[in-house]
Amino acid sequence: MTVKGPVPAEKMGISLIHEHILVDFIGADSINIKRWEKSKVIERSLPYLRQLKALGCQTLVECTPAYLGRDPLLLKSLSDSSGLNIMTNTGYYGAGNDKFIPNNGLTETADQLAKSWIAEWEKGIDGTGIKPGFIKIGVDNGSLSEMHKRLIIAAAKTHLKTGLEIVSHTGPAIPAFEQLSILKKEGVSPDAFIWVHAQVEENPNNHIKAAQLGAWISFDGINDNNVKEYVKLIKNMKENNLLNKVLISHDAGWYDPGKVNGGEYRGYSAIFEKLIPLLREEHFSEIEIKQLMVINPATAFEIKIRKIGQS
Ligand SMILES: [Zn+2]
Repeated sequence: MTVKGPVPAEKMGISLIHEHILVDFIGADSINIKRWEKSKVIERSLPYLRQLKALGCQTLVECTPAYLGRDPLLLKSLSDSSGLNIMTNTGYYGAGNDKFIPNNGLTETADQLAKSWIAEWEKGIDGTGIKPGFIKIGVDNGSLSEMHKRLIIAAAKTHLKTGLEIVSHTGPAIPAFEQLSILKKEGVSPDAFIWVHAQVEENPNNHIKAAQLGAWISFDGINDNNVKEYVKLIKNMKENNLLNKVLISHDAGWYDPGKVNGGEYRGYSAIFEKLIPLLREEHFSEIEIKQLMVINPATAFEIKIRKIGQS
């Protein structure tokens, strides 16, 4: 589901699964869509999106959650101008000690949270008619707090109604496995879950373990200077026959309304210009590269309810 409506998963093409156009870290108590001028953000970001299109990319998954600068109309306008498919999301981001969760969200039950996220899927976001293409949540580094347990339970309930993939800002293995065990209790298959920022986890055996359960492993902080480390992470998955569970992206962008002219904007080209050539040198086949860039994103983001024992 893109900001312009449904696109068949097999037509997503080359995809970047974790990027940003705009992020505002001011906090849920002060965020306001008037803090940025759409025309300025477009002027700043569009050249990078056009460059990405020229590199062969067709779909960009925009991971900025609500209360952190999610702006579906901005994304739609950028999709129109760049020719890229762009996806947005529903859900709440709890990482950062709940600074980005609105007050009412802090006291709601998992059922109430799920109800408002499902409503965005059914009716569109904030009266725009634009629907989310996935669920984005975020949890802090250690063992899950009660609030963050509610977020993953709400994500599970939303998934079972909508078939939207759960994309969770997670980092280390401890909260990753805790979320997977909650999903299990809720009857949701691990392949409905993307372990975001998995590169932060230092023990690569945990990547293997989670992927063997069926979870998606997202190595998503690629830039011009760290591609070698990422090749190592990806090779480890390949050697364990788990390349079919790997997602890669830059976590790049973005316009920051808190900074002059949006601050520094990081482009989305390192995977195409640095990482893929290096994978070829390391004897990755074209089929394996297609697996990473086309097949895995389409499989992960396809709208499909994934219950335990059925996928
Ligand atoms: Zn991100």
